[in-house]
Amino acid sequence: MQAVRCHGPDELKVEEVDGPGDASGPGEVLVRIERGGICGSDLHYYHDGGFGTVRIKEPLTLGHEVSGIVLAVGRDVTRVAAGDRVAVNPSRPCGKCAYCQRGEQVHCLDMRFFGSAMRSPHVQGAFAERVTVNEAQAHKVASTLTAGEAAMAEPLAVTLHAVNQAGPLVGAKVLITGSGPIGVLCAAAARRAGATEIVATDVAALPLKTMERVGADRVIDVAARPDALKAFGADKGTFDVMFEASGREAALTGALEAVRPGGRIVQVGIGGDMTLPMTTIVAKELTIRGTFRFHEEFGTAVEMMNKGLIDVAPLITQTMPFRQAKAAFDLASDRGKAMKVQLAFS
Ligand code: ZN
Repeated sequence: MQAVRCHGPDELKVEEVDGPGDASGPGEVLVRIERGGICGSDLHYYHDGGFGTVRIKEPLTLGHEVSGIVLAVGRDVTRVAAGDRVAVNPSRPCGKCAYCQRGEQVHCLDMRFFGSAMRSPHVQGAFAERVTVNEAQAHKVASTLTAGEAAMAEPLAVTLHAVNQAGPLVGAKVLITGSGPIGVLCAAAARRAGATEIVATDVAALPLKTMERVGADRVIDVAARPDALKAFGADKGTFDVMFEASGREAALTGALEAVRPGGRIVQVGIGGDMTLPMTTIVAKELTIRGTFRFHEEFGTAVEMMNKGLIDVAPLITQTMPFRQAKAAFDLASDRGKAMKVQLAFS
């Protein structure tokens, strides 16, 4: 079968690889991939050969935001059957380690996450014509959802986990810095969780326009109006909760005065190390929390989309054949032209 593989910086190839075969083992599900969304981490592998200390050491099939159709199921599989349309959870925690036993699967000591070079040998990804997954990774999607929408379950799960990190949002005033796909889905998820006012920033027009389409109350172009957040700094700050989804130090530090004392900041974006104004953080008694991936939120994401509670369609800006992966990755790298670019595998 064909797969989209990264061999190192700027080396992306669509090439023949060994497929998973036609049979499924006990508890396994064979899925024919339909759509795969290109994520920021896929782009980091493509452009830089990795991020932080994580480096590609061998050819890596990218991709972890995918949906498809079940081709076959192994013995003992009851949740899905051949022909079912599924969103695929790319996360496979071991279930045995101390963290898994405590229900903190995000921190699993033996995590296998699709398309990741964090461990060696690397865990191959799902930008391939077929993949085998464990039954628990396959989530049935409603007939009302397109394959592209189903493939958005993963980034939506990331933002549901971020919202869970923020604590209660009923009646909250929320600031979101960075209006890429994760920022926009944070807005949709925060609204569902009860946020009454959502203000979002970015430096590009398309992300801000998408943010408006999913219902942010106000969007601010901080490239054109760098001081616009100052107005929210009156009386020690406006926002109860901030989601920092750009990964940029300037976005975080520039927004701190707009967060009210006792406010909660959830750092969603990862962009390397930052220097923080500790005096402000201490004096305003701010809480800063990280958020990483998701666990049970994947099932919640699928359920919410199945019930029409969150519409991810406005985020999908382009769909391209997987054989044009290089062009698709280049397009996905252009924030002025693309929000979520997806590869079509069938
Ligand atoms: Zn574990």
